[in-house]
Amino acid sequence: MGSEEPAAAGRRLVAQVMMRAKFIVTHPNLMTEKQDFKTWMCLICGFVYDEEEGLPEEGVPPGTRWEDIPMNWTCPECGARKEDFEMIEL
Ligand SMILES: [Zn+2]
Repeated sequence: MGSEEPAAAGRRLVAQVMMRAKFIVTHPNLMTEKQDFKTWMCLICGFVYDEEEGLPEEGVPPGTRWEDIPMNWTCPECGARKEDFEMIEL
């Protein structure tokens, strides 16, 4: 008796929630006349990367898309990686 394991069920539930925790952001902008350059902000230090301006001093020419920046690129301010950046719309 007393061999049931409520913790196991709890862990299973947590795993399911985490799998569904990926957030999908959609921007149904019907009027997208402008070039869809995006702006990214470092979650750690607040450094902003603007695709339209690039980072010439970092060797990133203006107009460089975020996905074209190498994975080993790091935030010039705090050294955070690409995965620590969040896209923001201006
Ligand atoms: Zn940073």
